[in-house]
Amino acid sequence: MDQTGVAAETRKSPWGLAAPAAPTCSLVDVMSEQLARQLDEENNTLPTLAEPGADLLSSDEAPDTTSDLMLAQMLQMQFDREFDNQLRREEKKFNGDSKVSISFENYRMVHPYEDSDSSEDEVDWQDTRHDPYRAEKPQTTPRKGFTGKGKNITTKHDEEACGRKNTARMDNFAPEVHVGDGVGMDLKLSNQVFNSLKQHCHSEQRRSAKLHEKKEHSTAEQAVDPRTRLLMYKMVNSGVLENINGCISTGKESVVFHADGGSLEEQPVPDEVVLKVFKTTLNEFKNRDRYIKDDYRFKDRFSKLNPRKIIRLWAEKEMHNLARMKKADIPCPQVVLLKKHILVMSFIGKDHIPAPKLKDAMLGFEDLKAAYYQVLHMMQQLYQECNLVHADLSEYNMLWHEGKVWLIDVSQSIEPTHPHGLEFLFRDCRNVSTFFQKRGVSEAMSVYDLFNAVTGLDISVGVEDEAKFMAEIVVLEKRNEDHVQKRGKKTFPVASEDAGPPLQPDADD
Ligand code: ADP
Ligand code: MG
Repeated sequence: MDQTGVAAETRKSPWGLAAPAAPTCSLVDVMSEQLARQLDEENNTLPTLAEPGADLLSSDEAPDTTSDLMLAQMLQMQFDREFDNQLRREEKKFNGDSKVSISFENYRMVHPYEDSDSSEDEVDWQDTRHDPYRAEKPQTTPRKGFTGKGKNITTKHDEEACGRKNTARMDNFAPEVHVGDGVGMDLKLSNQVFNSLKQHCHSEQRRSAKLHEKKEHSTAEQAVDPRTRLLMYKMVNSGVLENINGCISTGKESVVFHADGGSLEEQPVPDEVVLKVFKTTLNEFKNRDRYIKDDYRFKDRFSKLNPRKIIRLWAEKEMHNLARMKKADIPCPQVVLLKKHILVMSFIGKDHIPAPKLKDAMLGFEDLKAAYYQVLHMMQQLYQECNLVHADLSEYNMLWHEGKVWLIDVSQSIEPTHPHGLEFLFRDCRNVSTFFQKRGVSEAMSVYDLFNAVTGLDISVGVEDEAKFMAEIVVLEKRNEDHVQKRGKKTFPVASEDAGPPLQPDADD
C-alpha cells in the first residue's frame, strides 16, 4: 500500500475530490494500518532490492493506481460494514421491546461478519478437492523453505513474495467476485487485505446461497453456528442436497435436519436424508470423553487433537459404526457423506415425517413382541458380527419404521474390548429389558439373561444380584485389558477379530 502516494495523488484519483472532508475514524484506522505496513515495507526494501527473483515483475507500474484500487476496495468494505452497523441500530430501535420483531437482514450489505481472524478458526478447505484458494500460479518456495544465499535469503514469509502470491490467489476467488485487473499487475496484497477480501468473498457466497433458501429455515439456522451453516450451504450449492427443510431434533450433542437429497458423483443420494450436525460447543461432550479416548481405534488421535477436531471424530465414529452395522444388515441409516462435523445419512421415515422412536410408537401387542425379538437379535449381531456395543441403547435411539426396529445414534458405540465396554453393554441390556417388560412383553428376558444371550458368556445369574453381576463384569474387563496389554488379544468371546490395526479406518468402511 502506498500511503504517501495516496495522499499526494488524491487530486488525480478517479474518485476525484480533493476531499478535505474530515475522514471518519474508521478510515483513519484503515490508513494508519496501511501506513504501518508501508513503513514496514520501506524497512524491508534494502535487502530485497538485491533479490534476483524481483525481475520477474517490473516495478515501474504506477503504484498510485494500485493503491487507489485497494483503497477503494477497503473503503467499500468499510462502508458496507458501517452501513450494516447503522442498519442494526435502526432495526433495534424499530423493534424496541416488541415481542414480534422485524428483521432488516435482507437489506444488509455484508452478511453476518465472522469475527474471527485466526486461520485455525476459518473454514478450512483442506478436504475439498477443488480448493478455491489454493495458490497455483505464483512461484513457489522450494521445499527447503527459502531461496537465495547468504544475506539475500528469501523465505516463504518474504513480504513481497507473499504479497504477489496473495494477488495471484485472488484469481481463485469464486467467479462472481470481481477482482478487477489487479491479478495482472505487480500488486502486492498484504495478508491483512487479502484476508479481508477472502472474508468478503465468503460472505458473498453465503449471501447468494441464502437466496436459494426458504424463509422457514431461519429458525433452524439459529441452532448452528455460521461455520456450520456455510458447510450446509456448500452441500446445497454443490448439489449433494436439493434443499434443507428444517430441524427434526435438537439434542444436547447434535442437531438433526431433514433435507432433500440431490446427487453425489458415483453415489445416488436418497430422496430424503438427514444431516446430523455434531455441536461444536464442547461442554456437553466433556462427559463423553471416555467413550472415545479409550477406544483404541481413536485413542492416539484423540490425544493429539484440538477440541474442534475431536467433535469431528464423533461424527467419524458414527460413520464407521453405521458402516459396520450396514454390513451386518442391521436396519440403520445409510451413510451418504461426512463433512467435518456434519454427517449426512438416509432418513428413516417418509414424506418428511420421521419414524417415531420406540418410546412413542403406538404398537399393538404383536408388534411389540416382534420388536423385542428384533432388538434381541440386533444386539447379538451388533456384538458378535460388528464387534460393537451400542452404549446408548434405549427406546429413544430405536425407531419404528416399516414394521421394523431401526438403530440410530451410534457415535458413542464402542468395541466390547473397550475398558468399560461390558458395563456399557449391561446398561443397554437393562434399558431394553426394562422397556419391554414395562410394556408387558412377557417374553422379555431379565437384564442378566439378556446380557448372557448377547455376549455368549455364562455369568452366573442364580443370585440375580446386580452388584455381584457387575463385579463379575468388571473382573472380565480387567482380565481382558491385562490380556490385551500383554498379547494384544481379547479373552471373552467376540466373533469378529477383524478390527485391523489401531488408528486405521475400519477395513470394512
Ligand atoms: P442425539 O445424539 O442428539 O440423540 P440422534 O442420532 O439420536 O442424536 O438423533 C436425534 C433424533 O433425530 C432422533 O431421536 C430421531 O428422532 C432423529 N433422527 C436421527 N437420525 C435420524 C434418521 N436417520 N432418520 C430419521 N430421524 C432421525
Ligand atoms: Mg439419541
